[in-house]
Amino acid sequence: MPPAPGATLATKALPLWLAELLARRLFGSLAGERVLSSTFFPLYKVYWRLRGAGLAAAWGFKDTLWQDNPWQDTLRQQGATQEQDVEVEVGADKAAAAPPAGALAETVLRVTSGRYLSVSEIKAELPREERAAFRQEYLDDLVRRGSLRFMAAVGPGESGDIECRRCGSRRRIAFSWCARCAIACPECPECRDMGRMRGCDALYTAAEPPAPPAFRQDTTLAATPAAPSGVTLVTPLQPELPFALSKAQAQAAGELAAASAARQSPVLVWAACGAGKTEVAFHAVARELESGGRVLVTAPRRDVVIDLYHRLEAAFPGCRIGGLWGGGRFLPAAGPSPQLIVATTHQAMRLSASFSLVILDECDAFPYNVTPMLQRTIARLSEGGVFIQMTATPALSTRRQVAASGRIIYIPARHHGHPLPVPSLHLDRSLASWPGGGVEAGAGGEVGRWGGRGGSSREGAAGDTGQVPKVLAEVIGETLAGGGRLLVFVPTRAMVAPVARSLQQNFNIEVAGVHSASPERDLVREKLRSRELALVVCTTIFERGLTFPGVDVAVLFADNEAVFDRATLVQIAGRPGRTTAFPEGRVYFIAARKSRSMLGAVEDIRYLNRLAGERKLLL
Ligand SMILES: [Zn+2]
Ligand SMILES: [Zn+2]
Repeated sequence: MPPAPGATLATKALPLWLAELLARRLFGSLAGERVLSSTFFPLYKVYWRLRGAGLAAAWGFKDTLWQDNPWQDTLRQQGATQEQDVEVEVGADKAAAAPPAGALAETVLRVTSGRYLSVSEIKAELPREERAAFRQEYLDDLVRRGSLRFMAAVGPGESGDIECRRCGSRRRIAFSWCARCAIACPECPECRDMGRMRGCDALYTAAEPPAPPAFRQDTTLAATPAAPSGVTLVTPLQPELPFALSKAQAQAAGELAAASAARQSPVLVWAACGAGKTEVAFHAVARELESGGRVLVTAPRRDVVIDLYHRLEAAFPGCRIGGLWGGGRFLPAAGPSPQLIVATTHQAMRLSASFSLVILDECDAFPYNVTPMLQRTIARLSEGGVFIQMTATPALSTRRQVAASGRIIYIPARHHGHPLPVPSLHLDRSLASWPGGGVEAGAGGEVGRWGGRGGSSREGAAGDTGQVPKVLAEVIGETLAGGGRLLVFVPTRAMVAPVARSLQQNFNIEVAGVHSASPERDLVREKLRSRELALVVCTTIFERGLTFPGVDVAVLFADNEAVFDRATLVQIAGRPGRTTAFPEGRVYFIAARKSRSMLGAVEDIRYLNRLAGERKLLL
């Protein structure tokens, strides 16, 4: 095999992606490999285009390539005969720049270790004083010395098609005029929000660092007369957990560690909402660490990742853990790259290494458009390893895929042994004519019967008193009469205020309304926790991750499937009954009709309850 182009090719006049394409073409045929069938466009066209643009078509190879290259002579001849019009420059490509100061070189190699970073990303990670001294030539120098590798951010893939090296996208690569190169350069629109990258931009990575030693917790006993050099007890690595695993968790943890040891992949951990899925994977992590594997734990949301980082740090004291998330990162200062990395999925896309175990937590908490990008990234990072995804609401497609090729592991019961509250359906056809329901679902602008737009001058004016659908009034009346508290989910932000106002007028108690843009969001959350509020109207902002002891939930217009899909309804239904003090709760789906999502959510919840019963996990 010829050396990878990115490792050895240095370009002068050609944009990096084009140089890689040419080199691949040249090496490919010289090495007797299949000539690439779908090369982007034939070489002569490239040449004429370059000449037309007034660019010298020359590229140089690093001298090391010539020294190591078994086809040296052939290459020299071919360069002159096969592509006669292209001038091949042989020899060192550049006079050596002054080498960077030792500390700076070390920092550059540390931040690029196991990751692909652009020049600006490298610069952004340098300490302030080193950033001022940084020069692009330093990277070239590190490349020349073989400690740094680089490649085009967008360039030819295995098949010869142009692909994005960051997100792996192939389909949507677009060519547009590049002022720097004076030709059209390829660019990936899919991952543009991570920073714009063209085919002429380079991604750098430190040459593969030595593999980290396996993390163990063997105990060395002091020397005794019988064993003068001391005795090392080989103990299996045990994660230190702040609480004992429940029966359901312990079962799943054992199954998961066994599946991972048997290299079963992919694995889906399907947990009941509030059953505690994260720690269940820690035993599988322990087995992987002590056998010398590399582990990546990733989740989409930054707050979840930071929380995971601290939990893993507590569970594996003394283990070197790398943490990568936007706005803050903890990379060990020196030594081999960490064996365990916790990263947001955004940061994980910049990782170059492959991992023997990849755990994706909250895998459903993604905007849909990110999913293909995520799947490609995970496939790349976990190649040949085990991939575990954990969620309370697996998509049907994920279930089918994992059931066919991998394994599903369940955590069907919460720690207190009470079943999940099953939503009760409250149907009323007349809801379809309410603003926000039925035909107007999702519009959100019209509030009509809910009590007008409000405003202090009109507050309480005649005819402005809002109404409340009968079926909702019944649910609220029942809850309040029993001394309970209720979270009412509505489909749109525009509905929050009018619905809250109507409820306040009709029930004569304080009603708070919150959505993602509400300034009083945190205050309402606190008041709910401290039981100061009995009735809150909200959007799906409170859907996941939060625990409000003793609160029931109602979903108004639950048949609005654009907002309340199956996963969202399961998450909402998973709010009540999470604590030992309030292990039960009520969930009401209020709608004009039964939607597929409503029925699906009820089916999923019943399924987990049945499983929990069969496994004798319920009280
Ligand atoms: Zn991309
Ligand atoms: Zn360019």
